[in-house]
Amino acid sequence: MNVLRLAMTYTPSSKDKHVEPARQCDELRDQVRALEEYIERVNTEILQAQMSNMELEQIFSACLDPMLVIRDDGVVVRANRKMLELLNKPLEQVVGANCCDLLTKKECHLASTTQKTSQTDIDLVDSDGNSVSFIMTTSKLITLDGSEGTLAQYKDITERKNAARALAQAHAAMEHLARTDGLTQIPNRRTFDKSLQLQWHSHLEQQNCLAIILCDIDFFKKYNDTYGHQAGDTCLVKVAAALQRALPNDEAMVARYGGEEFIFLLPDTNRDAALTCAEKARANVEQLGIEHSASDVSSVVTLSLGVASAIPTSTTTAAALLKAADDALYRAKENGRNRVIAAE
Ligand code: GH3
Ligand code: MG
Ligand code: MG
Repeated sequence: MNVLRLAMTYTPSSKDKHVEPARQCDELRDQVRALEEYIERVNTEILQAQMSNMELEQIFSACLDPMLVIRDDGVVVRANRKMLELLNKPLEQVVGANCCDLLTKKECHLASTTQKTSQTDIDLVDSDGNSVSFIMTTSKLITLDGSEGTLAQYKDITERKNAARALAQAHAAMEHLARTDGLTQIPNRRTFDKSLQLQWHSHLEQQNCLAIILCDIDFFKKYNDTYGHQAGDTCLVKVAAALQRALPNDEAMVARYGGEEFIFLLPDTNRDAALTCAEKARANVEQLGIEHSASDVSSVVTLSLGVASAIPTSTTTAAALLKAADDALYRAKENGRNRVIAAE
C-alpha cells in the first residue's frame, strides 16, 4: 500500500532536476516494479478469497444436513441443496426471502434467538408428505456483508425417532406379555401378586376393607379327559371372559392364578359386596352352559369360590388373607362345589 501511495504521488522535485535522468529512470522503474508486484499480490489475494468462497459454497452445498444462513433482519442469504430439497423451493425463491415466509414459527423463533447457540426438536412434513424429525441447531455468525446473522443446521433424526418409537412399542408389548396370561389374556399371577401387595399397603394406610375371591373350576381334570386338552383351553378362555364380566368396577381385577384357578382382587370392598361379586361370577360361568357330562355336580362347567375380606392391620398379612380365601374355597369344594363360601 505504501508503494502504491508513493507511486501515485510521485512528482519530480526541484532537487531532482539536478539528478541524472538515468538515475531517475532507474528509480521510477523500481517503483513501477514494486507497484506491479503489489497489484499481483492483491490480485492473488482476491483470487484466493474468491476460491475460498467457492470452496466454502461447495462444502456448504455438499453438506448432507440442510443449512441456512439468515441475516439479523430475517433475510436468507445462503441455503444449501438439502435445505432447498426440504423447503421444496428453488434457490431464487429462498435466498433473498424472509425466513418467516419459509419456516415455521418455532424455527423462526429459534433463528432469531440472541443466544450464541441453541437447539430444539422440529417436526416437519417433507415434500412427499412424510413426517420428518430434525434437531435444529442455530449458531451466531458474521455474514459475508459483515452484518450479524445466524447459521441454522438441521440434523435429520427421523430414523432415530422411529427406532426409539419402535423400541418403546416393543417394550410396551413385552410389558404386556409379562403382565398377561398367554391363554386367557387376563392378568397373570405375577400381576395379581404385585397388585395385592400394593393394595394391601394402601388399604392398611386408609383402613379400608380389601376382598379377594379364589375360584376353581369343578372337575376340570375330568373335563380335559372327556373333551380333550384343546377343548379345556377353550373352556378356560370362556370362563376368564365370564369372570371379567362379573367385575364390579374399574379398580377390581381378576387374574389367572394357576391352571384352572382364577382370583379376584376387589379394592374398597366389604364381605357382602365381595359375596355379591362371587355369586355373579359363579352364575356367569354356569350360564355359559359349557357341557360337562363327566361332572358330578352339574351337566355344565361350574365354579367353586372362596371369599375373604379384611381391613389390614399391622399384625395381619396379605398371605393370611389368601390363606383364608383358599380355606373357604376348600370348604366350597367339600360342601358340594358350584357354590360360594366366605371365610368367617
Ligand atoms: P376339583 O373339582 O377338585 O377342582 O377337581 P379338578 O379336576 O378341577 O382339579 P385337579 O386339580 O385334580 O385338576 C385340575 C386340572 O386342570 C388338571 C389339569 O390338566 C388342568 N389344567 C391346568 N391347566 C390347564 C390348561 O392350561 N389347559 C387345560 N386344558 N387344562 C389345564
Ligand atoms: Mg385346582
Ligand atoms: Mg378344579
